[in-house]
Amino acid sequence: MLTTLRKLVEEDVVDINAAKLRIFSRINPPQNLLEDETYFVNQDAFEFLVKYADKVAYRSSLQIIGTWSHSHATFLWPWHNDSIAKKNYLEIQEKMSAIDELKDILGETKLTGEDDYFFFQLCNWIALKCGYQGVYPASYDDNVTVYLAVNLEPVDRDDRGRTCVMCMCKEYQTKYFVASSEEFGICSRCIENLMDVVAPDEAAGESLNEVIERKCKSTGNAPAIIPCQLCQTAKPDVEVIAGPYTGICFHCIKLVAGIHQEKSDT
Ligand SMILES: [Zn+2]
Ligand SMILES: [Zn+2]
Repeated sequence: MLTTLRKLVEEDVVDINAAKLRIFSRINPPQNLLEDETYFVNQDAFEFLVKYADKVAYRSSLQIIGTWSHSHATFLWPWHNDSIAKKNYLEIQEKMSAIDELKDILGETKLTGEDDYFFFQLCNWIALKCGYQGVYPASYDDNVTVYLAVNLEPVDRDDRGRTCVMCMCKEYQTKYFVASSEEFGICSRCIENLMDVVAPDEAAGESLNEVIERKCKSTGNAPAIIPCQLCQTAKPDVEVIAGPYTGICFHCIKLVAGIHQEKSDT
């Protein structure tokens, strides 16, 4: 049952990862919040709030797609979960019922056999299909992740600039930043880390540029399941170095290595 969905999710991985990055650029994942970031899930007020230093920066209505229990390794739809009020899933339940590919699994009481990463991807896929910006994986009691379908509307946000696709830091927090779109790019720290990762063995007698050129010509781990979010390619034809949120392909590494070289020379 989940195999068909796994395929659909994989096909849409670039859109799904872009959605994740868009949400995480506004509020980092629970385990990785910046010092001044907090979020509030208010089931009674039917609301999800993002705050930067006590000021509400974004607001969204609250729709719950499902919950993941870390101790039981199971996924539950909200309508099988007594602790979730009906109004917090009614809207999305209606939209989900209209999606053919989901029909077989919406009646299931518990979904097992996949990990939380899969369900996070699946919930993002569902959120996008249902017209939301994406999913925020709110944490409850450290044991349960609540996948919220959100449409984050700015309230009083400071413009924090672009977000690094590798570490989710903001443009203003790093020495320099290589932009890949209006919202995203890669930060100087991640570029430096990448250069360390690809640095040649002294004994091999290769230069950094030679290593990169060689990797650009080899298919490496392609077709990788990790997309490159920097060039927005789902299956880059070259090796991809994985980060916690996305990967970066060697075509892009070649570009940033050039910029890194310029910055180190000046
Ligand atoms: Zn970074
Ligand atoms: Zn790339």
